[in-house]
Amino acid sequence: MNAIQAIRGMNDVLPDAVSAWQHIERHVRTLLGAYGYEEIRPPLVERTELFRRSIGEVTDIVEKEMYTFDDRNGESLTLRPECTASVVRAAIEHGLLRTPGRRVWTMGPMFRYERPQKGRYRQFHQIDVEIFGIAAPSAEAELIVMTRRLWKALGLSGLSLELNSLGSRDIQARYRARLVEYFSARADALDADSSRRIETNPLRILDSKNPSMQALIEEAPRIIDEHDDDARAHLDQLLAMLDEAGVEYRVNPRLVRGLDYYTGTVFEWTTGELGAQGAVCGGGRYDNLVAEIGGPANPAIGFAIGLERLVALLDVQSVELPVAMPHAYLASAGPRASILAHAVAERLRDAVPELRLVVDAGHGSFKAKLKRADRSGARLALLLGEEEARNGRIAVKDLRARGPQSMVSIDDLAGHIVRNVFAE
Ligand code: AMP
Repeated sequence: MNAIQAIRGMNDVLPDAVSAWQHIERHVRTLLGAYGYEEIRPPLVERTELFRRSIGEVTDIVEKEMYTFDDRNGESLTLRPECTASVVRAAIEHGLLRTPGRRVWTMGPMFRYERPQKGRYRQFHQIDVEIFGIAAPSAEAELIVMTRRLWKALGLSGLSLELNSLGSRDIQARYRARLVEYFSARADALDADSSRRIETNPLRILDSKNPSMQALIEEAPRIIDEHDDDARAHLDQLLAMLDEAGVEYRVNPRLVRGLDYYTGTVFEWTTGELGAQGAVCGGGRYDNLVAEIGGPANPAIGFAIGLERLVALLDVQSVELPVAMPHAYLASAGPRASILAHAVAERLRDAVPELRLVVDAGHGSFKAKLKRADRSGARLALLLGEEEARNGRIAVKDLRARGPQSMVSIDDLAGHIVRNVFAE
């Protein structure tokens, strides 16, 4: 029979890679907790309408990338392609918005039917962070200094920050008119996607990755030139806060991001070390989205980090990761000894709760078992034979130091391990 394989673009995270994931998850949890963020876990599946309304009908995600299906009741459901819409839906539904300045985060898989390539998958993972109820640029500044601290905590370097401000919906409407005028006058030079988008969503043209479009996009009008006093003051204040906190950034007037709900500040952290998929974190302000989903008017801002890309960057930058090897490996041989093995191991675990102990479950000689003990990375091998079992003793061999093995009474074993492994 043919072996069944994973779906294209959906990856198994294998034991070798998992320490990088855990390293990230651990730091994210600690850091976000320290900044006053609470974890939230929305479901992976939502009504399709939620994403259509929030992300926007004329975006790559909604037009061609969603995993959408009818359930048995004929209701259209979608595997979440991103998480902000779900978090906002949950925040409205459960009254989280009643406390201004509520900070939440979540982490988990997202699904987009994209063309799989290095760094771009169909199931990928994001850390998603949101602040509700703060209209001032202090919210943007907090998210940015917090991400900068996260890169440092993870041991990553060389990430650069770009930001832009898309302004209010009024500014966007004015800008949209100028873009339509500009691109319509150059209709012959547009690719098929961009021609279509002149009518439907001209801002998206700026997001085109087509090389033949880049010169045209470079010359296009800039949204910053449409800013009113409020938008200008907001951006200036944010930049002053970042300057004061010593954050380096570049204002990029072409940065528009791929989702329609953004108003005001947008930002992206990128690296040059991951080839074409260099965006590691993207976010921005979405002051209208809560109301657009049916909640009370409420300013909001957030970002998403791509976990696969952080994992890849840890690898490229050869960041050393803590690996949790077993402290001890217990092997037994003989009928009485093998019956005793788990009882001895459980006594040890009771006495030393932080002990990482593997019990050998295989057959073979002590020599073969010692080999397995060594391969496990354990510091100590605990060898329980028939004679030891009879005498209530166990042979302890330090696998990382040359030297004879010692005989230790099973009653003293926990103390021996604590003295030899944990006291260092
Ligand atoms: P977005 O939700 O599109 O703003 O993306 C936020 C971040 O998620 C990006 O900066 C990437 O790091 C990551 N990301 C988005 N799409 C994918 C994907 N298909 N595969 C892997 N990572 C992704």
